[in-house]
Amino acid sequence: MNTADAWQAPLRLRIDTQALQDNWRWLRARSGGAACGAAIKADGYGLGAQAVARHLSAAGCRDFYVSSWGEAMALGALSDGASLSVFHGVRAEDMAVATHSAARPVLNTLTQISRWRDTGRRCDVMVDTGMNRLGIAVSDALNGALDGLTIDTLMSHLAGADLDDASALRQLATFASLKGRTTAKRLSLANSAGICLNGQGGADFAFDLTRPGLALYGGIPRAEALGHIAQVVTPQAQILQRRSVRAGESVGYNALFTATRDIDVAIVNIGYADGYLRGFSCKGSAEGGRLPVLGRVSMDMIALGVDTAPELGEGDWVSIDYDLPSAAAQSGLSQYELLTGLGQRFARVWTK
Ligand SMILES: *Cc1c(COP(=O)(O)O)cnc(C)c1O
Repeated sequence: MNTADAWQAPLRLRIDTQALQDNWRWLRARSGGAACGAAIKADGYGLGAQAVARHLSAAGCRDFYVSSWGEAMALGALSDGASLSVFHGVRAEDMAVATHSAARPVLNTLTQISRWRDTGRRCDVMVDTGMNRLGIAVSDALNGALDGLTIDTLMSHLAGADLDDASALRQLATFASLKGRTTAKRLSLANSAGICLNGQGGADFAFDLTRPGLALYGGIPRAEALGHIAQVVTPQAQILQRRSVRAGESVGYNALFTATRDIDVAIVNIGYADGYLRGFSCKGSAEGGRLPVLGRVSMDMIALGVDTAPELGEGDWVSIDYDLPSAAAQSGLSQYELLTGLGQRFARVWTK
């Protein structure tokens, strides 16, 4: 749904353009002299990939990442000078589209490499340095597997840069051993958490190019980002009904909440079908903690305690508290899930 249809949606995502761009600028500065790209897979982590790409291009971002060719096609043309890479590489059934696209695959397996080599087209390559998710082995990369490829970016992905164990430093050392030993124009390792680690103890996680996702959208992968990364997304929803609940009565499915005194409740137009999942039942809040979620989250509705807000009534809008680290703690969901789960019923409204 685009903003032109916003009049009919009883719920919207307010997306702060300035915060998105400022987050990218902070991540770029933290990347030192390296370029800073943007992961916009999963429809720009739920915000809308086209709009994210447009606003980050305006800020100066030139390297974008999606996961599949379907996502690449849905994105359409990027701004001049921007490049797009497809993380999952290229399957046989992608070849017709991929060889006619301006985007390039991130080749992850020896099969993908042999599929792509004869096209003579540019690519990126993923090397596995310890995550055991996608990528060819370092030894293969050093022993001829890359011959004949025109590689823009050789990359690897960090498995635990958000934690304070030694895994990121181990992966860094393994990846650095590839420096100068391939024909790749650029090397890239760091996601959002890896960018936070850049420079600590002299460690260079940035190489030539970084690939943040989460932190662009307001996620805090590590404490270093606190105070620098701003919230981007705020779900807002309209009140359907304001009602009084007597002491001893309960609210919602399975009577998870029972009033211990007479209270006022607002029924609000957002629910688990919108990605506001049941972990927020009795735990979430709105309007900066003023309005608690009472009882279980329904498919399309929640109940908020509104005793502290006598001014609120039917048709009024409330802002759901969605600071990602706090919302993650409330709900038991990850910051990633909180973004990518945001449903299709929101009007996505970009503000300056
Ligand atoms: C999703 C992804 C990123 C971005 O990671 P964040 O943790 O969201 O910053 C970077 N690189 C790869 C390969 C990814 O899949």
